[in-house]
Amino acid sequence: MRKKINKGMEMPEHKIIAACSVCGKILKENEEIIKDNKFFCKNCILIPEKKEENFNFIPPNGIIKLFVYLISFFNPLIGFLFGAIFYPQKSKENKDFGKKCFILMGIGIAFYLIIFFVFTIINLSVGNISDFQFNEGYY
Ligand SMILES: [Zn+2]
Repeated sequence: MRKKINKGMEMPEHKIIAACSVCGKILKENEEIIKDNKFFCKNCILIPEKKEENFNFIPPNGIIKLFVYLISFFNPLIGFLFGAIFYPQKSKENKDFGKKCFILMGIGIAFYLIIFFVFTIINLSVGNISDFQFNEGYY
C-alpha cells in the first residue's frame, strides 16, 4: 500500500527516523521511544538503563589485590594503568585501590632510581660487581 502525496512522489509507508541508541536497530515512524534525548527500540527500553552506574570495574580482592599491588610496584607502567582505570571511578573502594596503585607505582619508580644510583655508585667505586647477587636484597 502506497500513499501518494501532492507532488507525485512515492513515499514509503513508514519513514525511518532514527536508530536505537543501544542496539542500533533502525526505527521507523511511531516505533521510536525517546528517553533522555536518546532513541530506543521497544526491546532496549525494557533493559533497565543503569549502564553508566553499573559500569564500574570491581577492584580485585584478597590475593589478587596483593598481586596487583606487587605488579604496580615492580612494573610502574602497569601500576599507572591500574591507577588510571580505578582512580577516576566513583566508588570509594575503586578510588582507594587506584590511589594505592599510583602510590606503589611512585614507590616502585623511586625504588628503581635508588637501586640504579646505588649500583652506579658501587660500580664506580668498586669497579667490577659481577660477583654481586642482585636478587638477594630484594625487600
Ligand atoms: Zn534497541
